[in-house]
Amino acid sequence: MNLPSKEHMQEIVSHLKSADRILLLCHVSPDGDCIGSLLALGRALLKLGKDVSMASEDRVPANLEFLMEPGEILRTEEVSGSFETAVAIDSGDLGRLGDVGTRLFQQAEVKINIDHHNSNPHYGDLNLVEAGRAATGEIILELILHLGLEIDAALAEPLYAAILSDTGGFRFANTTKDTLSKAALLVERGARPNFVSRQIYENKPLGYFKMLALAFKRFTVVDQICYTWITYTEMAEFGLDFEVSEELSTFARMLENTKMSLVFKEKEEGLVKVSLRSQNGYDVSKLAERFGGGGHKQAAGCTINASLDEAISLVLAAAKEVGQQWTG
Ligand code: AMP
Ligand code: MN
Ligand code: MN
Repeated sequence: MNLPSKEHMQEIVSHLKSADRILLLCHVSPDGDCIGSLLALGRALLKLGKDVSMASEDRVPANLEFLMEPGEILRTEEVSGSFETAVAIDSGDLGRLGDVGTRLFQQAEVKINIDHHNSNPHYGDLNLVEAGRAATGEIILELILHLGLEIDAALAEPLYAAILSDTGGFRFANTTKDTLSKAALLVERGARPNFVSRQIYENKPLGYFKMLALAFKRFTVVDQICYTWITYTEMAEFGLDFEVSEELSTFARMLENTKMSLVFKEKEEGLVKVSLRSQNGYDVSKLAERFGGGGHKQAAGCTINASLDEAISLVLAAAKEVGQQWTG
């Protein structure tokens, strides 16, 4: 019954009101949008008296831990029992839930897909997919209001963190008047803007700056494409978890006179995560899709099974080819 998007809001609301055992899942390498959205919806459903479990395939990054209570989000491998309903949050395709997460999702009687990726293939029984939204957190806020709940600080702060994260601190092209109105409402209900920004973007260990310095030194520009890289041994030397390298893409996209930036992050030997960013509306999601990834027009990613050198030459060659067609 894969009906398109928004029509499912009311169906999802009535289903969640009558459902009991509900499992909420976020995507691999979780970010502020999926963790914030997961916590807000999970807490909202708990207020309705539901039996709710929240789970993530990968560990929650250290800079997002402030949002949750200890043990509030399980790892998918710790989830036991069966679920009547599973909700995938911010996952552009089913595989993004991870191996265990995908299996748990598929085992549920009713599968709900809530997301904002344009390429989402509507893999749920009920789909709430709105590509125009800056963050899945925006959709979750509306869903919670439709459930008839008041937004208090425990819901407002994770939702604010979700929107802040996916708009890069309200700077990206996806930031709309509606995004800012929602953020204002969340602040009114108790979200603390300075505290959340400090936790997410600042408050870094010394190794973080050493890592940035090395990656900045490597910035290379060819055909208006900026790229850089960091290896997993370097990350270990700086005492940093892999997730911390994700923030490099925020800096690479700042360079003037470039059409796109590519950040190559070696996760382990032979496995490279690539973060693609573009400016002026150019579409990097198609480029990421060529390598089995995806994302949004101006922010996309893929993971490649290759050495760092191979990954760089493969993606750079494709990026040059695609970039040549971008004019204006
Ligand atoms: P990132 O570079 O990881 O910050 O990702 C940027 C955007 O691309 C996000 O919207 C992600 O959801 C999406 N994305 C990242 N990696 C992948 C992937 N392997 N497959 C599909 N989408 C991805
Ligand atoms: Mn996400
Ligand atoms: Mn998102």
